[in-house]
Amino acid sequence: MTQYVYRFGGGVSDGGQGDKNLLGGKGANLDGMASIGLPVPPGFTISTAMCTRYYDDGQRFPDSLRAEVANGLTHIEGITGKRFGDAADPLLVSVRSGARVSMPGMMDTVLNLGLNDETVEGLAEVSGDRRFAWDSYRRFIQMYSDVVLELDHGAFEEALEVAKEDKGHFLDTDMTAEDWQALVGSYKKIVEQQWGKPFPQDVNDQLWGAIGAVFGSWQSERAKVYRRLNGIPGDWGTAVNVQAMVFGNMGETSATGVAFTRDPATGERAYYGEFLINAQGEDVVAGIRTPQYLTRAARERAGAKAASMEEAMPETFAELARVFALLEDHYRDMQDIEFTVERGKLWMLQTRNGKRTAAAALKIAVDMANEGLISRDEAVARVDPAALDQLLHPTLDPAAPRDVLTSGLPASPGAASGTVVFDADTAEKHAALGEAVILVRVETSPEDIHGMHAAKGILTARGGMTSHAAVVARGMGRPCVSGAGTLAIDAKARLFRVGERTIKEGEVITIDGASGEVMAGEVATVQPELAGDFGTLMAWADGARRLKVRTNAETPHDCRTARDFGAEGVGLCRTEHMFFDAGRITAVRQMILADSEQGRRAALDKLLPEQRADFTEIFEVMTGLPVTIRLLDPPLHEFLPHEEAEFAEVAEAASVAVDTLKRRAAELHEVNPMLGHRGCRLGVTYPEIYEMQARAIFEAACDVAAKTGAAPIPEVMVPLVATRRELDLMKAIIDDTAKAVFAEKGREIAYLVGTMIELPRAALKAGEIAEVGQFFSFGTNDLTQTTLGVSRDDAGRFLTSYVDKGIFTRDPFVSIDTEGVGELIRIAVERGRATRPEIKLGICGEHGGDPASIAFCEGAGLDYVSASPYRVPIARLAAAQAALKNRV
Ligand code: PEP
Ligand code: MG
Repeated sequence: MTQYVYRFGGGVSDGGQGDKNLLGGKGANLDGMASIGLPVPPGFTISTAMCTRYYDDGQRFPDSLRAEVANGLTHIEGITGKRFGDAADPLLVSVRSGARVSMPGMMDTVLNLGLNDETVEGLAEVSGDRRFAWDSYRRFIQMYSDVVLELDHGAFEEALEVAKEDKGHFLDTDMTAEDWQALVGSYKKIVEQQWGKPFPQDVNDQLWGAIGAVFGSWQSERAKVYRRLNGIPGDWGTAVNVQAMVFGNMGETSATGVAFTRDPATGERAYYGEFLINAQGEDVVAGIRTPQYLTRAARERAGAKAASMEEAMPETFAELARVFALLEDHYRDMQDIEFTVERGKLWMLQTRNGKRTAAAALKIAVDMANEGLISRDEAVARVDPAALDQLLHPTLDPAAPRDVLTSGLPASPGAASGTVVFDADTAEKHAALGEAVILVRVETSPEDIHGMHAAKGILTARGGMTSHAAVVARGMGRPCVSGAGTLAIDAKARLFRVGERTIKEGEVITIDGASGEVMAGEVATVQPELAGDFGTLMAWADGARRLKVRTNAETPHDCRTARDFGAEGVGLCRTEHMFFDAGRITAVRQMILADSEQGRRAALDKLLPEQRADFTEIFEVMTGLPVTIRLLDPPLHEFLPHEEAEFAEVAEAASVAVDTLKRRAAELHEVNPMLGHRGCRLGVTYPEIYEMQARAIFEAACDVAAKTGAAPIPEVMVPLVATRRELDLMKAIIDDTAKAVFAEKGREIAYLVGTMIELPRAALKAGEIAEVGQFFSFGTNDLTQTTLGVSRDDAGRFLTSYVDKGIFTRDPFVSIDTEGVGELIRIAVERGRATRPEIKLGICGEHGGDPASIAFCEGAGLDYVSASPYRVPIARLAAAQAALKNRV
């Protein structure tokens, strides 16, 4: 019989060293902490395998689970000496979810489970604290109603507010035992009204309800959105952790807190965290009371008055510091910890590898390698390549004027400007239209995740550094300022006030997640510097990787940026971007409108010097490195006007009649332009276009060689080839042109002619095509579209459902479909190399900057990947990680 329940605590550790896949992250680490002797309240974990089975069996539990759970409870009862449901001295438990990877806010927690009208009296008796007992009971009803019964939590909050108002209380802490008891009565009435049944009094019913709710929340909309954004498979499932309660709210010698073993924002080696005396866990994260600092140094730095834990509870703090050291040693990584102090005794409730900003990830990885805790290769493997994005983005220009409105906590670094919006749906709507928005909320909750993702930055009025907004924003790499207490948000009126000033929805503000400042209007930014830890880690990565990294760029500016980021060449220069340039579009249109070769050549003659100048500059920037230039690719009608109003203007500029222009536009119109007259098909029908482009390339190369003494390394690339014959024809044009230019210039430049592999036929016939082409570059944007038969332009409308339903794990235009498209690539690699062993192989579709796709390219044995300039460092790191993974 499969075992589903694993016990931990009190010297027991059923899970051994804790398998995260089976026990979930939280369960595995509770088990791990128990196994190294740390003070963990006893409990048990129901495995993720049970979650999978639960859904396979139509959301039912197997009978055997009852006995296993009963056995788990007996384990807890044995250690605590309390019995579940005992009216005299009741055992209370927490029920929490725990997936393999932490999913902040996705899964819900129930605390104080096991309280009912009888056991609450027992708890009051044994604790000697009636107020505490009734406070615990009302918290339990509130949480259980919200999470398990899914009742409207607003009604409970309102009842609490009314109760406080009636008594003239301002704070929860002013409430007496009798006040809480009365509130329990009101809560039970709300439950009965909304649910139609009384609040469950049977503790076993409570427990099974909570277990079912945790498994149920795996398929909640919020969880699905989070999984989709983070590429987490839907069949992983979550575990459920049931654990004896310990109480941080048993008076002044009790406390609860969260801590990091190093600073998660900067990576600095300093304990970092917050705690609250006489409080239960959720009070810290909920932002209801302002937490106190952990260390004296942090308190002094912040200029805060309330004593730090180091000052208020020196002995317990020393014990906690000892635990920090043990945990870092054991897990060899920075830990994010939850703890509770119950009447002076420290209990560890959770540990996990802490989420951190990209800057902190870098610093911690480099520091830990230097401390000898991990190797350099491990340091390289530790940093999430996608997170580097945060470091590569601009920060506020220190010299730029700032109109500071207020400031809050520097919760997640980076600067962002955008128009103010007050809810997640609006954020998403405006962002979809290409608008930069800043999401402004009193505080965020898991329902806001899609809006946080759509926003450029997040600003909240409430909540600390470990509030939902802060944690999620850091994970997403969005700048965030949290707890800006002076903001008065009126979401109904769609505005916020700060002091005398009012900012309405739609007005622009800037937030600086590194300083916490909030400014009116847009503030200028500066590019980041890539020295220090960044440089160190990238150097280690470069030492580990095999794949070369090039860039997709067509302007000298982008080429320079990419080169500064470490690009080792240009993998794709899309020449059509140069055709759209305002100064040239008229000549391009004249070329398209010409009805003879002669007319086209006349227009192309005007473009030649312009293209030559482009290539000259690029060759100069990329001295010593290869530059792949792709000949014209898009259908010609893209260069013609589409709107009625534009026709007259364009006709005049191009000196043709409006009717002629319209007729030509109609002739060029295509039903499926992506599968139409584009790519080398243009070169086949209008060879003079490619001839002009080849001439511009070779003339520029000769000129740069003459000027600088360093010969450029051009690689001329033909797009959308399906057959060998197409490439034959195009190569002849290129070679003939090269010959002519070299004769005119009296100098030869070494160059290659190759092709993109963007069509399934090209991949299959790669053996033949390689007889002509000297290199292949996989254009995986088109190859994905043509392999799947999914239009690049229309895919967005339905791909999300495909990902939700598990047809694709991720959007195949973002991360390569390794099975289908991947197989075509593997075939082309094999057949191409069989014909021409030295053939150069690369990828230049968007996938070239996606870490998972780069791992695929490493496995497929490509020579290089090419990514947009800002993704070059990401690609360098991802390539190193892929190489390291392949090595083991
Ligand atoms: C491709 O198809 O992958 C490619 C790089 O070309 P483009 O995106 O310009 O079609
Ligand atoms: Mg393409």
